[in-house]
Amino acid sequence: MKLVKMMCAATMTSLLVATQVAAAVPGVDSASVGAKQGIVAVSHPLAAEAGRKILEQGGNAVDAAAAIQMSLNVVEPMMSGIGGGGFMLIYLKDQNKITVIDSREVAPKNVTPELFLNENGKAVPFNERHTNGKAVGVPGTLLGVESALQKYGTMKLSEIIDPAITYAEKGVRVNWATAQYIEQNVKKLQKFDTAGNVFAPGGKALQEGDTLIQPDLAKTLKLIKEKGSSIMYRGEIGQALVAEVQKRGGAMTQDDLKNYVVKEREPVTGTYRGYEVASAAPPSSGGLTVIEILKLMEGYDVQKMGANSADYLHHVIESMHLAYADRAAFMADADFYPVPKKGLLDERFIKERRQLINPVIATATVKEGDPWKYEEKDLSGKAKVKEENPIGQTTHFSVMDKWGNIVSYTTTIEQVFGSGIMVPGYGFMLNNELTDFDAVPGGVNQVEPGKRPRSSMSPTLLIKDGKPFMAVGSPGGSTIIASVAQTIMNVIDHKLPIQKAIDAPRIFSSTYPNVSWEEGIDQDVVLELLGRGHQFDAKSQSIGNVQAVIFDYENGKMYGGADNTREGTVLGVDAVKFIADKPQAPVQVNPSTFTLKVNGLAYPFQAAQMFIENGTSYIQADKLLLGLGVDSSLVKIPAVTVAGKSYLPVRATAESLGYQVSWNEQASEVLLTKDKTQTLSDLQKYDKDEKYKITN
Ligand code: GLU
Repeated sequence: MKLVKMMCAATMTSLLVATQVAAAVPGVDSASVGAKQGIVAVSHPLAAEAGRKILEQGGNAVDAAAAIQMSLNVVEPMMSGIGGGGFMLIYLKDQNKITVIDSREVAPKNVTPELFLNENGKAVPFNERHTNGKAVGVPGTLLGVESALQKYGTMKLSEIIDPAITYAEKGVRVNWATAQYIEQNVKKLQKFDTAGNVFAPGGKALQEGDTLIQPDLAKTLKLIKEKGSSIMYRGEIGQALVAEVQKRGGAMTQDDLKNYVVKEREPVTGTYRGYEVASAAPPSSGGLTVIEILKLMEGYDVQKMGANSADYLHHVIESMHLAYADRAAFMADADFYPVPKKGLLDERFIKERRQLINPVIATATVKEGDPWKYEEKDLSGKAKVKEENPIGQTTHFSVMDKWGNIVSYTTTIEQVFGSGIMVPGYGFMLNNELTDFDAVPGGVNQVEPGKRPRSSMSPTLLIKDGKPFMAVGSPGGSTIIASVAQTIMNVIDHKLPIQKAIDAPRIFSSTYPNVSWEEGIDQDVVLELLGRGHQFDAKSQSIGNVQAVIFDYENGKMYGGADNTREGTVLGVDAVKFIADKPQAPVQVNPSTFTLKVNGLAYPFQAAQMFIENGTSYIQADKLLLGLGVDSSLVKIPAVTVAGKSYLPVRATAESLGYQVSWNEQASEVLLTKDKTQTLSDLQKYDKDEKYKITN
């Protein structure tokens, strides 16, 4: 993310100070010494420290990941924990094996596809349905962590849990990120007293610098230390959990907990420019969609397009639209409906999809393709495209040990603070993961008993010539996919060191025309993309929270990068320490003299680029034409020159291009309107090279 962050990073004494010098192995920061004994990249410094210590004590990456997850439950309780689920991707160096521990939440036995419909057959609004016992899936995280340790770790749950117990018992300082999330969610937390009393005691949200003490959670963790996961899946913690879910309207039973199984799955795999990419398999849509976007982009000279150039972002947006359309149609729990895992990544399918991308302008209508043509399997269910839920939050961390084992783990309770329901007396939050199912039945992702809701989580690993190279992931609901794909391209194509690759502003767009964007994208790039028919949201927002590690397979050293949308931290066992600073508020550009809105969308012109004289509004010619997607040769209106720059009168220019123009005096807005299809088809007429020749 963002420009402001890049400036902060540059002033840090960190060993990860970004550098432009391209290293032999992409993503490596040649200014950093790198670690040899293991490394972690986590969204909270205390959880990172818990993982680093385990590595230092001789634990492997799975041991460290388990310690990090249990600690995150305490220090970042709004994002993940034993009341949730996730996907842990593990690379085992000795066996050269990649496996995925799927601890995704499951729908209880007593649910029907109509779970989220009201009495009139309409979907209950998201805000209501996610803070209800019905939204709570049978949690998998504790069993997932325990199973991973038993199968691939060297330590027991009881040996990695102490830092978490200490953090809960003695308390931790509330950092700026936690304070911000509590503040934003006070109402939800107060809906149910239990969580409200912990995070907003006496009705007052905990502030940065306050101490968060969680005695009930400490008790729970001690019980787990003593008895293992059975105390939750078959014991007193589970009884309290089920009682609370039922009290809040849910149908979960003790049997649902007893019957919960962690599934070990093969990752989905593909290749990107000579790297092997492995990621989470269904029920997550993350891996397949990330790889589909990368495969589509592989057809272009991305490096030549340039990082965050208009050309690059246009192709990223268009690739996303295609891949997200396929995701909506075909991806869900593959244990219930077949998912065309091969067909979606088949080179012929990718080529077919890529041919739908117009290299210059946005494509308004994007439908799913037919991957089943390339995979022999019956399609027994087919989804319609359904609504997307609001973006949730989660947490991702990456770990590498000195033996070369890697864990890339995305873990969640879905929304921030999940359902808002805390198990009374046991102090942990419950997920609202079942809202990741479609609320309206009929598709492959409808609610069904025992089924896992479709996820976007994309813990990913890249391998080069049989050697592990990069572990990466992010939270952010459906935006996860976009964050992961862009970070990978920033490293492989744009040759950015990993910290810079994470710092670079990201965009997200799953369907035409809206594009979410992070602060720091160049104004001309935004204008050009608007001119190509995309619609950038009026305000920027943070997208994702990426934590990644890079292995320089040539010198055997490890590097990391962490995001500053939280207190992202990289800690190496023997070297490397980076804790992200709180991002500064974006620098306020002078407010504009007036606003230009095109089909209702405000364009980002700055005060210095516009003026009003004798009642006529003018905008700097090159900027205006870039935003309208018009070559200067098509404009016959004379420009005026002020201080060496050309300005065009807005009304006359726009009218000459077929726009209807009106002036809202009260709001100081110039409103341009034109049928969108007309605008797009106008653009088709302009040859690409011509379009760039704005000479005014
Ligand atoms: N529920 C989301 C998913 O599984 C994860 C939460 C988030 O980060 O939005 O895709």
